[in-house]
Amino acid sequence: MHNAIAVLNAGSSSIKFSLFVERDQGLTLDVRGKVDGLYTTARFISTASDGGVIAERSWPEGVPLGHAAALDHLIRHLEAELADDRLIGIGHRVVHGGPIYSAPVRVDGPVLQVLESFTPLAPLHQPHNLTPIRQALKRTPEVPQIACFDTAFHRTQPEVAQMFALPADLREAGILRYGFHGLSYEYIASTLPELDPAAATGRTIVLHLGNGASMCALANGQSIASTMGFTALEGLPMGTRSGSLDPGVVLYLLEQRGMDAKAIETLLYKASGLLGVSGISNDMRTLLASEDPRARLAVDLFCYRINRELGSLAAALGGVDAIVFTGGIGENAAPIRSRVCQDAAWLGVDIDAGANASARRPCHISTAASRVNVWVIPTDEERMIARHTRRILG
Ligand code: ADP
Repeated sequence: MHNAIAVLNAGSSSIKFSLFVERDQGLTLDVRGKVDGLYTTARFISTASDGGVIAERSWPEGVPLGHAAALDHLIRHLEAELADDRLIGIGHRVVHGGPIYSAPVRVDGPVLQVLESFTPLAPLHQPHNLTPIRQALKRTPEVPQIACFDTAFHRTQPEVAQMFALPADLREAGILRYGFHGLSYEYIASTLPELDPAAATGRTIVLHLGNGASMCALANGQSIASTMGFTALEGLPMGTRSGSLDPGVVLYLLEQRGMDAKAIETLLYKASGLLGVSGISNDMRTLLASEDPRARLAVDLFCYRINRELGSLAAALGGVDAIVFTGGIGENAAPIRSRVCQDAAWLGVDIDAGANASARRPCHISTAASRVNVWVIPTDEERMIARHTRRILG
């Protein structure tokens, strides 16, 4: 019998899950999967670590599945998969730990109330992240529930990096630059001591480029600055999010275009970024394959903003020893890595085209002459959550 840890990542229309089992070689991933299409046409899939499908199910149209029923299905599946192993805890991805949590926490009733109070800071994500915790606390009160936050890793940033130049009362009310993707950055930082000891103790910029995209400056493995701020809107243009915007644009849309807050939220979160600029797709694969000038413009803007942020984070670090690409685009889009590295030649970056085209992971993709080591390292937020959960349970 081994100890097992389940990891849940609940969003508005999907719940992703993983099951890690503690063996002699450490935490091994046994099962992963998801239920998606919640409230529309739900589908469930579960795969083994070799990618083989263990179980699949679809719910017919007109039989919408909500979070509660999906979670019941998942827990029953996980219980069956556990066989002789013992579930010692469930780790949850929670977007916001507010100004309070700089580390994961075991959730009980009062902690859950505090986490619910952060909902106004992340109204599109926090309620969905908390639903399975609330449900699991009721369903299996004996199983510890651990919340792991996307914001926590950034609480080491200097005060000035976490501030907006707003009056003090607003700052004290929690209007701060929180930063996100913290579990991804923490995982990448945890891989550096073995892969690149100089980068682990030096100055590293990590580019998490997925549908959501951000960058983080690590000094000695700790976050000292990041491109995302109060919400996951700031910084780089993303799949459908605008990234940084002159706040005057929002005032203009409100006052001159008669848009209300909901319409602006939809514009900035769902209809901007790569999709808004190209008018074609939010998917980098589609844009890279397209000859359409609007697709090229979207890719140009994405790379241009990355280069600008690279300069900003390099200044915050006082130089750069290493750059790491991760996330769906960072790990898979060699042309984007190539452009970003060419634009960063001024930093002493020299990319090796052959290594950049390699499918090996992790992969070192800079030349011996490069003053900056460049890496492609797959991220693993679920493993980071499992590790935190294991540590908290002692
Ligand atoms: P999320 O932020 O939702 O977790 P991912 O990290 O999975 O997203 O990244 C999704 C993005 O990765 C999409 O824009 C997708 O086009 C891009 N992507 C995945 N594979 C490739 C590839 N081979 N080439 C270019 N882009 C890719």
